Amino acid sequence: MTSSIKKIPFNIPFMTGRELDYIVESKELGQLAGDGTFTKKCHSWLESYSQCTKALLTHSCTAALEMSAILLNLEAGDEVIMPSYTFVSTANAFVLRGAVPVFVDIRPDTLNIDEKLIENAITSKTKAIVVVHYAGVGCEMNIIMDIAKKHDLNVVEDAAQGVLSKYEGKPLGSFGDLAAFSFHETKNIISGEGGALIVNKPDLVLRAEIIREKGTDRSSFFRNEVDKYTWQDKGSSFLPGEIIAAFLMAQLEDAYEITRQRMDIWDRYHALIEPMEKQRLLSRPHVPKNCEHNAHMYYILLPQNVCRQNVLSSLKDQGIGVVFHYIPLHSSPAGIKYGRSNGELCNTDMLSERLVRLPLWIGMTDIQQKFIVDALEKAILNELS
Ligand SMILES: *Cc1c(COP(=O)(O)O)cnc(C)c1O
Repeated sequence: MTSSIKKIPFNIPFMTGRELDYIVESKELGQLAGDGTFTKKCHSWLESYSQCTKALLTHSCTAALEMSAILLNLEAGDEVIMPSYTFVSTANAFVLRGAVPVFVDIRPDTLNIDEKLIENAITSKTKAIVVVHYAGVGCEMNIIMDIAKKHDLNVVEDAAQGVLSKYEGKPLGSFGDLAAFSFHETKNIISGEGGALIVNKPDLVLRAEIIREKGTDRSSFFRNEVDKYTWQDKGSSFLPGEIIAAFLMAQLEDAYEITRQRMDIWDRYHALIEPMEKQRLLSRPHVPKNCEHNAHMYYILLPQNVCRQNVLSSLKDQGIGVVFHYIPLHSSPAGIKYGRSNGELCNTDMLSERLVRLPLWIGMTDIQQKFIVDALEKAILNELS
């Protein structure tokens, strides 16, 4: 009955139940600052999961991206190729170093950077390619890594949404020189705010540790490799405290189960919405055969002749927490000021205006999902009539 349906929020953060116990444990260990027992456990988990050389917890994915820009020695005027259809931090982290984001268009099927457009955007100033694995679906990493090799460019994966996703059987975050994960409360595996820098190149590890520890070799000092720690390089404070790491460890322990439960909800949406796609009322997300996604997000694309604002209002009026994103960076005030586009960004402009994200959180019921899909269908039909 619809009367049993009150409000369906867009997101409800999932808790495993052990988060607070681990926080108490960190307090009892007398460790509240960073890089204690729980941070080390998180590092080990991430390193064994992603097979990277080094994982370093950060206070956000944004911080991990900022560390990447410092590590790659980006300077004023250097160019970084990236999609415009992404969260601001992808670009902002590089703009902070004076680099210029060069925006290229996305693929219409996955909304990921169109790998075929990257080479054309390379100039003598290009230093790096930053890819974004949108909705936890991998970019065409084999092709992108080949382009980077050919032109001697670094690759950074913004894998904020990609924890536990795979491309060609390998975890997202294991392809680029560097990768960034997010554990923000809206992602799959959470610690409120939180993130990690994944370092896949051994020769970047030591400097990554220094940049993260205010420019000091404090990490080497803790390993008894030096007898005092001193200011070595540029840096800032990018590490989270142990309370965050304790929370995160509880989540990482259940990461596969969390992903499995989200996948059930994702699959249910996908099945419920299939008939609407057949009637051309919308299109559903596409996951290429060589990608395994993590059910981070369920989105739909409205037909061009349907007014998104009206559909969103109709669903919101029924208590359904639907949202959209992103305002493309190339058309945002700061994107215009600090970046430039390479070629027309037709897919970015068109698809970003048609996208609607549906609520997806562990604990959603079949009844709630059916209610959302019915309301969506009615709202679209209403617009088309
Ligand atoms: C969430 C997100 C970020 C930022 O993550 P924070 O941990 O909040 O800094 C960056 N890029 C993408 C693609 C994201 O989805």
